Amino acid sequence: MTVNLDSSELLFTLGDPVADTKAPQVPIEQRWDDRRFHGKIVNPANRRKRSVIVVGTGLAGGSASATLGEAGYQVTTFCYQDSPRRAHSVAAQGGINAAKNYRNDGDSIQRLFYDTVKGGDYRSRESNVYRLAQVSVEIIDQCVAQGVPFARDYGGLLDTRSFGGVQVSRTFYARGQTGQQLLLGAYQALERQIAAGTVTMHTRHEMLELITSGGRARGIVVRDMVTGEIETHLADAVVLASGGYGNVFFLSTNAKGCNVTATWRAHRKGALFANPCYTQIHPTCIPVSGDHQSKLTLMSESLRNDGRVWVPKANGDTRAPGAIPEAERDYYLERIYPSFGNLVPRDIASRAAKNVCDEGRGVGPGGRGVYLDFADAIARLGRDAVEAKYGNLFEMYERITGEDPYQVPMRIYPAVHYTMGGLWVDYDLQSTIPGLFVIGEANFSDHGANRLGASALMQGLADGYFVLPSTISAYLAEAPYGDPEAADVDAAVQSVRQRIDKLLSVNGDRTPDSFHRELGHLVWEYCGMERTEAGLRKAIGEIRRLREEFWQRVKVSGTSEELNQVLEKAGRVADFLELAELMCIDALHREESCGGHFRAEHQTPDGEALRDDENFAYVAAWEFAGTGNKPVLHKETLEYEYVHMTQRSYK
Ligand SMILES: Cc1cc2nc3c(=O)[nH]c(=O)nc-3n(C[C@H](O)[C@H](O)[C@H](O)COP(=O)(O)OP(=O)(O)OC[C@H]3O[C@@H](n4cnc5c(N)ncnc54)[C@H](O)[C@@H]3O)c2cc1C
Repeated sequence: MTVNLDSSELLFTLGDPVADTKAPQVPIEQRWDDRRFHGKIVNPANRRKRSVIVVGTGLAGGSASATLGEAGYQVTTFCYQDSPRRAHSVAAQGGINAAKNYRNDGDSIQRLFYDTVKGGDYRSRESNVYRLAQVSVEIIDQCVAQGVPFARDYGGLLDTRSFGGVQVSRTFYARGQTGQQLLLGAYQALERQIAAGTVTMHTRHEMLELITSGGRARGIVVRDMVTGEIETHLADAVVLASGGYGNVFFLSTNAKGCNVTATWRAHRKGALFANPCYTQIHPTCIPVSGDHQSKLTLMSESLRNDGRVWVPKANGDTRAPGAIPEAERDYYLERIYPSFGNLVPRDIASRAAKNVCDEGRGVGPGGRGVYLDFADAIARLGRDAVEAKYGNLFEMYERITGEDPYQVPMRIYPAVHYTMGGLWVDYDLQSTIPGLFVIGEANFSDHGANRLGASALMQGLADGYFVLPSTISAYLAEAPYGDPEAADVDAAVQSVRQRIDKLLSVNGDRTPDSFHRELGHLVWEYCGMERTEAGLRKAIGEIRRLREEFWQRVKVSGTSEELNQVLEKAGRVADFLELAELMCIDALHREESCGGHFRAEHQTPDGEALRDDENFAYVAAWEFAGTGNKPVLHKETLEYEYVHMTQRSYK
């Protein structure tokens, strides 16, 4: 059954505007110092009396817990993996940005700030981005002091490379394993605090509900994933560092466990969810090879430093790449965007790849691929130099495809990679629920409509090591807030139990995975690289139909008092089914194209994203208005005092 929504149906209501009130009204370069100076701090002797829950031990949560523990707070932290070292952050490959200007190539805090605002297509908040650029410099020092083995040049100095959307070389890296090395640094710092007794770690525990009382976040309800026991944990403040929701698309480069449950549960409890439709589609992933796949693999953007992207000039040219002469190749990124060439931002490179494939010039099975060719780099630098920079990525590619990228070009195609949307936060990284802070990929804060490469690690560690530990103290300085009401705690526990019982009692005939796959297909098709009004309306109808079917036909085997991965999956898919509708409503209401949000109706004559600054220069922050009710839109107007909004150009 196909459900097409009537084009006149209004899918949301309009609420009051929302605004950040925490960024001080002083010149932008003084804001962070000013906020830290005027925000209250907790005296060291009182810190042990203040408690904080941190959900997530990836780069954002791990660094935050370690830093808060070191500061002397009582920290309790949670992750659903068996070790913090398995957080999805471990997968990050290419690098981390910082405005160090070690290359003396014209970099500065101002330039990183400008690149990030422009890269985000003028849909991020200036104050937060400027602070990110300022703090970026400190992250590298922190990580080097921890012993993170960043790549070094021949003379022993820290090496850098370039990433998309910038013309300087500011990306620090550890081969193609930067996330893993940074995570080991954060993990060591965390373990040190666990040993010191300031941090209590709960692995294999999944947060299933936020506890609010007296209008404040006061704790969480978790399920012990091994025994099935439901537990409550209370604290003076709660921090969500639970990562992004790209897995709503089923196929993505994210770890299979990534999900939206922690932030979605908080959203249902009152936290606004901002810009859910802003998804990053990464241009260089190994193409989908068939229906059997449950995961896609990224080939780091760093490869575009030396790899050249091309397709045959002629439609339907099926010759092997080596048999296609230079004159018959189209290095289309270098042709269309001569200033940035292969290093245009991800949204631009992804759309360009889609366009050449739509024209019938794609390569590989199904014509959904373009070449990423290292022949020139190998001829220029030598195989050893290329191997030293990218060896592990080349090996990964060969293991997956059976092709040797030293001999034949890689085949790549865009895939879902990162979500710029997330819970709305102010300058203090506090959500609209007092006492609930959100950091890392889980919040919406710094990247606007498109994230530049190597900026997620920078943001996660800026939030965790530097920003949150300062801003949360202003909130904790006002604590204690009294005991939460027992009835509020009970209600949260009961809602978790009822949901689990409901999932187990349907006893239908379809696996949660089959629903997830179908949902992912819908969201990719209609809310993926290109969106249209008709497609989004169709998707919303289909998602509603699928959600109804889920609650009638899902089959969850086993019980709740044991390790039950089907039950875990079912809960996460149920939340994805709700989120997906909000993503489509957000994409439908945003009648413009910006960054990763490309509405086919709004493009320039040469096919670039066409923004509408007059009507859409705002953050769309959505309020949950109860099951079955229309979400409420709160707008945060974006004002650009320091970077002037212009049509983005990388030509
Ligand atoms: C393949 C790949 C490569 C990348 N490469 C780069 C790169 O080179 N540079 C860059 O800047 N960015 C990169 N990124 C993006 C970057 O890795 C992520 O955005 C970042 O690591 C997210 O960190 P995080 O701490 O916010 O979340 P995560 O690392 O996803 O951690 C989330 C944590 O929350 C926990 N959690 C979640 N939900 C719950 C729950 N309900 N209950 C309990 N615990 C929960 C998890 O257990 C985990 O500990 C890459 C991403 C991918 C997919």
